[in-house]
Amino acid sequence: KPPKQITNEPVKAFDSAATLDWDLLRASVSKFNNASLDVPLVINGKRIFYNEGNRSYHQQVNPAKHSQVLANVTQASEADVEAAIEASKAAKAKWYKMPFYDRAAVFLKAADLISTKYRYDMLAATMLGQGKNVYQAEIDCITEMADFFRFNVKYAAELYAQQPCESSPGVWNKAEYRPLEGFVYAVTPFNFTAIAGNLIGAPALMGNTVVWKPSQAACLSNYLLLTVLEEAGLPHGVVNFVPGNPVEVTSKVLADKEFAALHFTGSTAVFKQLYGQIQQGVVNDLYRDYPRIVGETGGKNFHLVHPSASMPHAVLSTLRGAFEYQGQKCSAASRLYVPQSKGAEFLADLAGSLSSVRTVNTSASKINGGDLHGFMGPVIHQQSFDKLAGAIDEAKNDPELEIICGGEYDKTNGFFIEPTVIKTTNPDHKFMSTEFFGPILTVYEYPDAEFAQICETVDKATTYGLTGAVFARDRDAINTADEILKYSAGNFYINDKCTGAVVGQQWFGGARMSGTDDKAGSGNILSRFVSIRNVKENF
Ligand code: GLU
Repeated sequence: KPPKQITNEPVKAFDSAATLDWDLLRASVSKFNNASLDVPLVINGKRIFYNEGNRSYHQQVNPAKHSQVLANVTQASEADVEAAIEASKAAKAKWYKMPFYDRAAVFLKAADLISTKYRYDMLAATMLGQGKNVYQAEIDCITEMADFFRFNVKYAAELYAQQPCESSPGVWNKAEYRPLEGFVYAVTPFNFTAIAGNLIGAPALMGNTVVWKPSQAACLSNYLLLTVLEEAGLPHGVVNFVPGNPVEVTSKVLADKEFAALHFTGSTAVFKQLYGQIQQGVVNDLYRDYPRIVGETGGKNFHLVHPSASMPHAVLSTLRGAFEYQGQKCSAASRLYVPQSKGAEFLADLAGSLSSVRTVNTSASKINGGDLHGFMGPVIHQQSFDKLAGAIDEAKNDPELEIICGGEYDKTNGFFIEPTVIKTTNPDHKFMSTEFFGPILTVYEYPDAEFAQICETVDKATTYGLTGAVFARDRDAINTADEILKYSAGNFYINDKCTGAVVGQQWFGGARMSGTDDKAGSGNILSRFVSIRNVKENF
């Protein structure tokens, strides 16, 4: 049975009551620093390495020091993907027939292993592989991961306990919560190891089996996660790990008749493409069922500051919301609206605070040596670096844009982009609607008296609807923003930054082009991976 009380795993990094063991962390960091690990495919529990047969491999490098190869990741061939699909089909019956609490025990144990025995290895693999400082790694691969596993158990137990169908004399009705028929395809992102945990964990907890394509840039931590789940008792074949060329792996998976659901976090462009491909499959009678599609994608998230706001609080929240983890969160603030009367002071304060952050930036490559908790690290890879550097260059040449601070970049050793604040005179500028997924924040100063109008502008500026925050002490202003921005953010924050949703507390996910409006860290996601059979029995 699960514990009666499920609570959030405490964050250790900067908590004086329960500090990290820095020596253990350093030991784990040097372990991964000193070895290029071979990451295999895992199909039905069997490890398959690139040097078996003619498989290729992908090199996962340290984004803070791109000459360093952290892992040689085996790439799945078409036959491997087919084998993974077959393994997930074969493992299904035994897995879903296990009593729920036996399945749950695997995830509860994994949560405990992650927060104890594997804490430092998980942190090190996420820090080095995905360019996180220790705090950003801790709130991801330790606390959020453990929270996902534990809260999913709590929500699943609540779901299974629901028997909403009335019975009548001589008739007994029940709702039976079956897993989906077929297998689930999980496509997971680089930016949160915990998200990978949830994208595979939520369907598996509900009795489904999974084919998992991790991001090429996160295979080190993701493979470690799978080994922890195995140690916790996950049976072979329940989750099959097939890193590889995204287009090749996906086309193979989506061509299978028993493809039952997509559980996705990643870019809007890729998600739209998969959405269309799946719909086409339905139209062509490819599948047995209408596959469930659960996706969380991009955002162009806002911070909207009212003249009544506490400015120091709004400045600090903006610094964190826009630049923690180099802005590489779907939830990150990337457009800021400040009142004209406060604009100059606000931006001067923000630039001032960022200058100390920038100093740390250059030393972030010391992640390999000793600086485990500098604020800014690298962006994830060359492609991302090029896109962000290109946007900064564009800003330098655009008369409607002015770089307030930052604006430099350097990829000599790692993929470093300075945290950059850009002011625009045009609220409809494409920098106010384009997602860059990095440390670039665009600001517009609005006339103080036009708060309601600016709320309308915020709402209409983009096609996204993921997160947003309003900063104000005036209750009428809060109410106005709350009303006008009803659909602009699935996660709406009042006087807090727009990142950092906590599992079980702020259910996470957006509507519009930000996703399918499902909520990670809630029972809603779990219900997407069950199929209800109604049973009527006369007696
Ligand atoms: N849940 C995270 C947050 O609230 C963001 C997840 C994502 O980037 O996809 O900041």
